Amino acid sequence: MAGYDVDLFVIGAGSGGVRAARVAAAHGARVMIAEEFRIGGTCVIRGCVPKKLLVYASRFKDHFVDAAGFGWTLAPASFDWPTLVAAKEKEISRLSAIYRNNLDKAGVAIEDSRAEIVDAHGVRLIADGRKLSARIILISTGGAPVLEPDIPGREYAITSNEIFDLPALPKRMLIVGGGYIAVEFAAIFARLGTDVTLVTRGENVLRGFDDDLRLGVRDGLAHAGVKLHFGMLPTRIEKTPTGYHVSLTRGESLDAEQVMIATGRRPNTKGLGLEQAGVACDSFGAVKVDALSKTNIESIYAVGDVTNRVALTPVAIREGHAFADTVFGGKPEAVVHTDIPTAVFSTPELGTVGLTETEARARFDCVDIYMANFRPLKAALSGREEKTLMKIVVDGVTDRVLGVHILGEDASEMTQVLGIAVKMGAKKADFDATMALHPTSAEELVTMRTRTARFEREIAGPEGPDCGPLGEG
Ligand code: NDP
Repeated sequence: MAGYDVDLFVIGAGSGGVRAARVAAAHGARVMIAEEFRIGGTCVIRGCVPKKLLVYASRFKDHFVDAAGFGWTLAPASFDWPTLVAAKEKEISRLSAIYRNNLDKAGVAIEDSRAEIVDAHGVRLIADGRKLSARIILISTGGAPVLEPDIPGREYAITSNEIFDLPALPKRMLIVGGGYIAVEFAAIFARLGTDVTLVTRGENVLRGFDDDLRLGVRDGLAHAGVKLHFGMLPTRIEKTPTGYHVSLTRGESLDAEQVMIATGRRPNTKGLGLEQAGVACDSFGAVKVDALSKTNIESIYAVGDVTNRVALTPVAIREGHAFADTVFGGKPEAVVHTDIPTAVFSTPELGTVGLTETEARARFDCVDIYMANFRPLKAALSGREEKTLMKIVVDGVTDRVLGVHILGEDASEMTQVLGIAVKMGAKKADFDATMALHPTSAEELVTMRTRTARFEREIAGPEGPDCGPLGEG
């Protein structure tokens, strides 16, 4: 490995890059990592972690109301946004310092600088212009929010990058988009006291998630006071003395103190020197990689959101770890991108693993659905109307559980554990054989005996699916 300044140069110290750097160093590699912003990346600095802290903050509103049903009398609650922002900042600074410390302890050299690729083995640090050579270069630069649609005045809009550090809680906010970020922040800000309007081009929020749960999320948002407009988008944003005037399709308009655009994220590949190094990207701007995260250039790899495989933190971490084991540990590992549990931290929250009903019906000959829709025990005294929804999607031929979808309190926690069962190929019979834990909401998952629906593909004659008699459940 002589001849190179380092064995591995990592560009981007987010979830994937940090894991790759540490594991490669543990395998004995001389590693350097460069970060232009703050160590920790999107997840720690302006993504999952601060978002979840805001989710917790927002849910106190409901807890205070619910407490009355259990005999509590509370003084009128008030909320202070700057206090929350300061507390959040303290925590992410602590986490960022831990990341830095862990890199230090692992013997990874840290450069607080943007780095760009010069050629197959060369990088340049922008802060001081130094050029370094590396046997392997890892691109882990993540993604960034897009400002779409391309309308006049879109530069006035904020994204999830800025939302965490607003100087004041907006009285009125327009959120554009219907995906993870739009839904989560609509739920958060509506509870913190903002008058939220959400507009999205789709017919509902969260395209791609299970349709029954999407309806539940939509109703949850409406219940929290979010004004929802489907099939609608902004056409112009104009600055006013107090905020922004936003023109919308269908001739409507509204005034808001903040406009947040959450219409997806793009891989961070611009200006990285990929073209001059000959690294191939797809039409979305993502770095193309093989199953072992190698690009078309032998010495350059990429992991995480910059590859646009599955843009989730745990996936980036797993890819970073697998890369380091493959290249420096002599243990090649291709990450499997199926049955990944994920959650949308709306309130109520949505947890999902495996196939949705729609996906299963498109791929399997016979699909059984088991669904429970119930008021959780806590609601008996709190009086809260919200229901918990659970749905198990089963291959009617093999009895294998193809997907589980939950909307309700702690859905994310349940889904993480269910991910093990789905990954192991559990059958519905395994769920049925599992003893219930009472009283919980999760016990419904092992007590759903009656099939709600069965969908058979119309295949005539002996080629038809062997589903067993209809009505059996
Ligand atoms: P999403 O892909 O989740 O949603 C994008 C939304 O914007 C959709 O409603 C989409 O509509 C709409 N949209 C896309 N392009 C346009 C356009 N040109 N004009 C108008 N509307 C448009 O993106 P997010 O920004 O919400 O989140 C980015 C990613 O970050 C997520 O996909 C996820 O990978 C990750 N993330 C994960 C979280 C978690 O794990 N809890 C939380 C937050 C983010 P349509 O559906 O019609 O395409």
